[in-house]
Amino acid sequence: MNRVLNTRIVPEEEIDKPQSNCGIVGIYGHPGASTPTYYSLHALQHRGQEASGIVSCQRTNGDVPGSRLRIFKGPGLVTEVFSNQQILNEILLGDVAIGHNRYSTTGSDNLENIQPFMVNYRDGQLAVAHNGNLTNTRSLRARLQEEGTIFQTSTDTEVILHLTARSAAATPEDRIMDALNTVRGAFSLVMLHGETLIAARDPHGFRPLCLGRLGDAWVVASETCALDIIQAEYVRDIEPGEVLFFDRRMDVSGEPVQRWLDLKPEKYHHCIFEYIYFSRPDSKVFGENVDKIRRRLGKALAEERPIPAGDEHPVFVMAVPDSSNTAAVGFVRRASKDGTDTRLEIGLIRNHYIGRTFIQPGQEKREVKVRMKFNTVKGVIEGRKVVIIDDSIVRGTTSRLLINLIREANPAELHVRISSPPIMSHCPYGMDFPSSAELIAPQNGGDVEKIRQEVDADTLGYLSIEKMLSTVSHEGKRGYCTGCFNGDYPVPIEENMRKEDLEL
Ligand code: SF4
Repeated sequence: MNRVLNTRIVPEEEIDKPQSNCGIVGIYGHPGASTPTYYSLHALQHRGQEASGIVSCQRTNGDVPGSRLRIFKGPGLVTEVFSNQQILNEILLGDVAIGHNRYSTTGSDNLENIQPFMVNYRDGQLAVAHNGNLTNTRSLRARLQEEGTIFQTSTDTEVILHLTARSAAATPEDRIMDALNTVRGAFSLVMLHGETLIAARDPHGFRPLCLGRLGDAWVVASETCALDIIQAEYVRDIEPGEVLFFDRRMDVSGEPVQRWLDLKPEKYHHCIFEYIYFSRPDSKVFGENVDKIRRRLGKALAEERPIPAGDEHPVFVMAVPDSSNTAAVGFVRRASKDGTDTRLEIGLIRNHYIGRTFIQPGQEKREVKVRMKFNTVKGVIEGRKVVIIDDSIVRGTTSRLLINLIREANPAELHVRISSPPIMSHCPYGMDFPSSAELIAPQNGGDVEKIRQEVDADTLGYLSIEKMLSTVSHEGKRGYCTGCFNGDYPVPIEENMRKEDLEL
């Protein structure tokens, strides 16, 4: 039985943060693979809250065709979509599975855009789950449509299925490689072709993808927190440009069959924002602990944008919870090294259960959201020299409202430090930023003093791009995308490739 839940998506609105992209999981060779896939998706919930889905398959012993793929997906959080165990135990049978948490970065939040996508074609059944954004979708879709292809979704991911189906290469595996060599941009993928699990990462390595073992089974996931939750062991990252095929050939070799994409850039371009904000601090991403890099970002920020000297002591440093907690720890550690009495304090409390916002006349929706999400510990803030650490400022409206809220608690001084550079433009590789016209930094020509005035901080300091890059490894081919900070986009972008551009 295959199921697609049939209700409209109403995503919970995050306030004024870049929205994360998607989370993907693949499991090969584990009885009841959909259950660990469910838990891993749960651990990756931060990467997408709009929708979730799993496709599963039961392998055979090779002398008869494998079972048909089974799918269940729908709008909502992982726990809402898979709301009872029967879905996993009775619908999503099998020892191979792929899963996806969606945040829409291309295509709107329509039901047909919920992944994994599953199709029947000449080689059998094919399913795909994708994290990232392709950058040549517009021209590929135009060409495919000219040739008569009918698209069912408004996402970039669907072109991968059509390119595979239409490829003239000799074998199903070659046809998948052909498709992956044709698309450009950011893709970390898991696919099911019959009972074969495929994991692939684009040649630039924009988005993370790691490999793990769960007993004899193999696990592929966006972040290592998805391995931890099922007690799987981290083996390594899947390399940029690497494609792994998990199938019956492994009965002999014990290892997945490894192939490489044709494009070989001189340097990789890992998304540095994965370290700043998107990934969980308990994950290992691009081979490094996110927590460690985030602490370094905080230390670098304290070095580059120190707290102004003055008579007010001690200095109370507070994170905007939760994504800035780790950077605040690093900031305090560095700031207190020179003997100043700098303390990490909890002056902002976050409510994780926001739900819907009901606006009264005269209220601004965003203000209500901010008040629902944050409150101050007034006894901690009153009369103190306070430094607020945040990981980024997007539109600036939330920062202004949050600073208003903190000022109501009467701090003696209120300084703001940001553990990333000003965001100057959009992300074409899978993160959902507002347009440049809505971003506070380009609105003010990147002038930090003007931004400070807008958000009403006593002082404001951003980390520079150079200092940010000094916190990460540059060994071997390691390199980083910094496009949204300086417009230096490593893969060319087709014009008008914004989130809703494929709707028509
Ligand atoms: S443009 Fe920004 S968010 Fe997008 S991949 Fe590059 S660094 Fe990451």
